[in-house]
Amino acid sequence: MSKAIFLDRDGTLNIDKGYTYKTQDLKFFPDVSKALNLLKKDFKFVIITNQSGIGRGYYTEEDFHKFNNRLVGELEKKGIKIEKTYFCPHHPDDNCGCRKPNTKFVEQAKKEFGIELKNSFVIGDHPNDVELGRNAGCKTIYLLTGHGKKHFKELKAKPDFTASSLFEATRFINQKREKIKTKEEIEKIAKELKQKGKKIATCNGCFDILHPGHIYLLEESKKQGDILIVGLNSDKSVKGNKGPKRPINNENARAAVLSSLDIVDYVVIFDEKTPIKLLGAIKPDVHCNGEEYGYDCIEAPTVRKYGGRIHLIKNYKGFSTTKLLEGI
Ligand SMILES: [Mg+2]
Ligand SMILES: [Zn+2]
Repeated sequence: MSKAIFLDRDGTLNIDKGYTYKTQDLKFFPDVSKALNLLKKDFKFVIITNQSGIGRGYYTEEDFHKFNNRLVGELEKKGIKIEKTYFCPHHPDDNCGCRKPNTKFVEQAKKEFGIELKNSFVIGDHPNDVELGRNAGCKTIYLLTGHGKKHFKELKAKPDFTASSLFEATRFINQKREKIKTKEEIEKIAKELKQKGKKIATCNGCFDILHPGHIYLLEESKKQGDILIVGLNSDKSVKGNKGPKRPINNENARAAVLSSLDIVDYVVIFDEKTPIKLLGAIKPDVHCNGEEYGYDCIEAPTVRKYGGRIHLIKNYKGFSTTKLLEGI
């Protein structure tokens, strides 16, 4: 049995101009081939796309094939094989059985390519894609590219993960759960590491929709020690700090994403509003914080009590999840 990634096309792989069919309009989102190349060893790729533009008379099936062959060919040049593209040509009013979120094409692909659905993913920028995944028993990832932001409020079923791009989705797919520890586990691990002479660095945050500012914070934190332990605010803790609409991704998904990063050695979810109790358990050599918190941040007395120091990190190019989520 193989695993598959069922990819939506327009708004997921390529920029969606609305009923995209002209070959000159074919433009991939950044890092699409990089993302698929990261996943190809473990997954087969199948495109499932609603093309009601055909049923509406905006373009022909031939136009569709011309565009799609170009897209599949461009990916092939980058070393990526699309096993098959399934498309629904019907008008939504036709009530056909193949338009997403109907599972007909997923079932067909399952038979044709021997796919195990429960370990496969459906990825797309429309609530239909999430519903398709749910209906078919796959994992689901919702993208904020394409129409994703516009339709965010219409999501009936919660996706397993919401990502800012296909590339960010690979982090969730490539999670390394063995790095996720409880406070009790990390206390023991930290003690052993210190006995071995390892220097422990810590940082913490909500890491809701990952952005380059987060990556910078994590990289700079890792430079301060041999081992980086990231404290992750639990869902309860995020709500307490940022209000009822956050987090977008639950604590399991956020921990999973952090665990996929090579620079992160361990992730611990903490429930309090601050990581003070967690830091008391880890007793880090260096605790890293955004420069806006200053050397007298609330964590400072706990860190210093065990001989550690505070390291401040600049806010990288003003990235923030709150800004990233504007418009949803
Ligand atoms: Mg789409
Ligand atoms: Zn159809």
